[in-house]
Amino acid sequence: MHKHEQKRCPRCQVLFECKSGSILLCQCQTVYLTPEHLEYVSERYTDCLCASCLKAMRMEYDIAQLTDQIEALAGNKWR
Ligand SMILES: [Zn+2]
Ligand SMILES: [Zn+2]
Repeated sequence: MHKHEQKRCPRCQVLFECKSGSILLCQCQTVYLTPEHLEYVSERYTDCLCASCLKAMRMEYDIAQLTDQIEALAGNKWR
């Protein structure tokens, strides 16, 4: 009867509805992710995540990128 598959988020265990069934195609959670974000998420989880986890992962990735940049800048500056 259900149109869409019910999935359990592998990160926070919440039940959510998934339309695409693939993290690489997942647009079903209205979270905008760049290909870099999708790669980062798909390296860690093979299945779709819920919207709040996608946002959390996106933030995690952005922070990791910034940290790398800051470390690279600091490294160059003080070398
Ligand atoms: Zn989740
Ligand atoms: Zn999905």
